[in-house]
Amino acid sequence: MLAQTTAHPLHAPRAPRQCRPFPARPVPARFLPFLCALLVALLLQHPAPALARDPSVLDGLALAQRGVSANLCALTFDDGPGQTTEALLNILRDKGVRGTFFVVGSRVHLYPDVMKRLVAEGNEVGNHTFTHTSLRQRAPVEQLSEISRTNEELAKLGIVPRYLRPPYGRYDNATIDAAAAQSMTIALWSVDSRDWRKHDLFAMLPRKSFGVRGVRGVFLFHDNHRETVEAMPALIDRLIEAGCTFVTMSEYVDTSGPLCLH
Ligand SMILES: [Zn+2]
Repeated sequence: MLAQTTAHPLHAPRAPRQCRPFPARPVPARFLPFLCALLVALLLQHPAPALARDPSVLDGLALAQRGVSANLCALTFDDGPGQTTEALLNILRDKGVRGTFFVVGSRVHLYPDVMKRLVAEGNEVGNHTFTHTSLRQRAPVEQLSEISRTNEELAKLGIVPRYLRPPYGRYDNATIDAAAAQSMTIALWSVDSRDWRKHDLFAMLPRKSFGVRGVRGVFLFHDNHRETVEAMPALIDRLIEAGCTFVTMSEYVDTSGPLCLH
């Protein structure tokens, strides 16, 4: 396992910080409209974080700040297991890539063999609630139930998930407390494929970064979308070409420290 190999080059000392400090001088007033527009555009690109950043939550920004030096790529798949999960497992196996599956607890008992194979082939399992509900609209006790019932289903298969991904990326302080009560960390994503919109998956790849710093991040997909599964072989090829080192969610977090936090 990558995370357990102390001699791996990912563990080499990081290069000296090259972060730029915040500007000390005030911004001229004529630039303020432009900066406001830029801020809005950036916020629209990261719709998932819904409340003030909590250091115990791995939101889009926290994940984007990791994995820079090694081009780590964690492919994550939400909403399964489903009818197309097994086909996706075949693709991952053939490509030698392991992914992370954030499963819906109420679906787990429908696909026990798929779940067992998923783990046996080195993929990671995360918790995506029991009924795929928007946790922010639930009472604290219901939130805890959504998380714990999924963990109980997974425990029947010997699986203990480390991460909770709240559906739609929506969570609140009660979610953070409930996750902590289950010894879990909330983990979102840093690259949204928006595959549920059925658009060109390749459009999410930042073309200009190819050959410069490579592609990296925690990629969000849905394994119950046939189009996603069909596109995955070519997409993985493109990511390999771009220099991705494929890891699971845990490996992504464990082998990459935060970069340049001012
Ligand atoms: Zn979902």
